Amino acid sequence: MEELMITTNDKFGSINVKKLSERQAIQELKRLAKVISIHNINYYKYSNPKISDSEYDALWNRNKLIEERFPHLIQKDSPSLTVGSGVSDDFKKVKHIEPMLSLSNIFDENGLNEFITQVNKLLDLNNNEIIEIVTEPKIDGISASILYENGELILGSTRGNGFEGEDITENIKVVNGVPKKLNLNDIPEILEIRGEVYMKHDDFARLNKVQKKNGKQTYANPRNSAAGSLRQLNPDITAKRNLHFFAYTWGTSSNYFNSTLWEARHKIEQLGFVLNQPSKLCRNVNEILNYYNEIVEKRSSLDFDIDGVVYKLNRIDWQKKIGLRTRSPRWAVAHKLPAEKGVTVVDTIDIQVGRTGSLTPVARLKPINVGGVLITNATLHNFHEIQKKDIREGDTVVVQRAGDVIPQVVEVLFSKRKKNSKKYVFPDKCPDCGSEIISELLSTGEHEKTIRCTGGIVCSSQVLERLNHFVSLNGLNIEGLGEKQIKFFWQKSLIMNFIDIFELEKRNRNKKINISNEPGWGEQSVFNLFKSINKSRNVEMFRLIYALGIRHVGVQTAKLIANYYKNLDFFLDEILSSQDKESESYNNIISIEGIGPKIGDSIIEYFKNDKNLELTKNLLSHLNIKHVSFEGVESKLNNKIFVVTGTLQNMTRSQTKQTLEKMGAKVTSAITSKTDFLIAGSNPGSKLQKAKDINVKILSEKEFLNLLES
Ligand SMILES: [Zn+2]
Repeated sequence: MEELMITTNDKFGSINVKKLSERQAIQELKRLAKVISIHNINYYKYSNPKISDSEYDALWNRNKLIEERFPHLIQKDSPSLTVGSGVSDDFKKVKHIEPMLSLSNIFDENGLNEFITQVNKLLDLNNNEIIEIVTEPKIDGISASILYENGELILGSTRGNGFEGEDITENIKVVNGVPKKLNLNDIPEILEIRGEVYMKHDDFARLNKVQKKNGKQTYANPRNSAAGSLRQLNPDITAKRNLHFFAYTWGTSSNYFNSTLWEARHKIEQLGFVLNQPSKLCRNVNEILNYYNEIVEKRSSLDFDIDGVVYKLNRIDWQKKIGLRTRSPRWAVAHKLPAEKGVTVVDTIDIQVGRTGSLTPVARLKPINVGGVLITNATLHNFHEIQKKDIREGDTVVVQRAGDVIPQVVEVLFSKRKKNSKKYVFPDKCPDCGSEIISELLSTGEHEKTIRCTGGIVCSSQVLERLNHFVSLNGLNIEGLGEKQIKFFWQKSLIMNFIDIFELEKRNRNKKINISNEPGWGEQSVFNLFKSINKSRNVEMFRLIYALGIRHVGVQTAKLIANYYKNLDFFLDEILSSQDKESESYNNIISIEGIGPKIGDSIIEYFKNDKNLELTKNLLSHLNIKHVSFEGVESKLNNKIFVVTGTLQNMTRSQTKQTLEKMGAKVTSAITSKTDFLIAGSNPGSKLQKAKDINVKILSEKEFLNLLES
């Protein structure tokens, strides 16, 4: 799965908004803008949120409060000015004719009263006038827009960032509840229907079961699986996922569609859509609150996830009159639901060892249905968490499912604790390989909360996780080599490291083994496996970097690295030189936008380990790496390595460097056998002799300028 690391400085994050100085407020706004945008990308683009909805809302709220206190400090990239999210690179982009805004949230009755008062004020109504509000459930799925021309479906798109989404026309056609042709004839020539694509609980459970069986990635919740299923490049896969669509309103229409939302919804239903139900036309706050409570009660019996209810002004002329904020309409609001909870028993506490050796305690629960989804595990985060909450095996606990994250243990019901229960003791050795465990000392002087196994490649969990990561979707993407198969080959000592994967076929051919005779394998599946392994040998540079499993290096970071270094050999050379923190190479890597010292150090640390370096170098002989060319333009200087010495008359050093880098070349400080050109200005130093000694081509300034122009 994807990850984007957050490396902002959280110095003022704990200061109350009322106490922030102006200088601190600027820092905080900058930090929040960055953090929120990263969470947006994780949520919208990778369908893989790292924090719960309520944590996300808290960040938003803090940003809002600071901006309210210091309106003159609002940043250009403020989250309040953008609708958030992102667009996948794999689909064609579509501009929405009218933006698909998101809704602002309220959390309680006060929020609702404020909303109604505000509407009253903006419409300039007297207090006796009835404001009709349409209430409907807010489906926790993927917002989509479907465009019809003369009743024919012509375009489907995701919401994306609100202004631009992805073209999912072929995929939306195979979603249940999406008519390819509309039922009525007297409809606008152009009509856009908006709604939510979602996955039912049963289908979600079934899909994860199949994914697991086939050694593929499982989804965290129905929304993620809906997103993943909808954005398949092959619509046949989408069709098999049994997605559904609820329509809730219309967007663009070439002429009049309706004057109230309530009637429009009924018309949309007649067109052949399924509406998000139950909905109600309410005439006062009490009716709205009754509806809310009814939904909270019904929630667990629904076969789909909802994360709130929506209140919208019924009259379209009133909607138009009070209009929009930058990011959300003023005429609608979402009322959040409380997180769903359940009571169950912790059977055992297991320790999972991750790819980077982190030890994560997991509570194995007596299965419990929380809001329609069967929960069997809950994360206990780390040792501190267990200690703080005093969670023990056999305890009765309250678990919470917040929709988008792994279920958590909220509290222990101490009154139900058995008399003979024992305090949980965290192991002092890795439960998997018996190696020492440590917690890293942070720059703040405190120990990291995560405890790690130091076993590295002797730790089977770490090795298996690393192998799984290596072949995963964003890594080498080797189909047919999932968790189950990796474990099988590992147990047979056939795949112990990355290289073994590429030597498997040779060893099979040399009759060192005969895989097709092994249980679960046949001629065809072995043939297919080798085919997909061989296919993976042609690999983009960023995929390989991601696949290595370097700490803090997710896909996004891997792309930054690939785009910067462009060539893997060059990258490795530079990383090795970077071990010297005074070097230009070190300065280069930590100056790459989006990387910085924390990630940079982690990369350097990884290759400092001889085993990792050797393994990576050996890998190169098995792979055909697609390096990055400069902005897709073939430049004859692409990937060429330059060294500059002496003084140039027409350009400064940094101008020279910039010019070369723009053409896809690299500038390094030392002459090595990899250097292609030395540019020698006046008063060249010892580099000139060195270049002559090892036959590096030497260019005078004039020759260099000619080369640039040719
Ligand atoms: Zn271990």
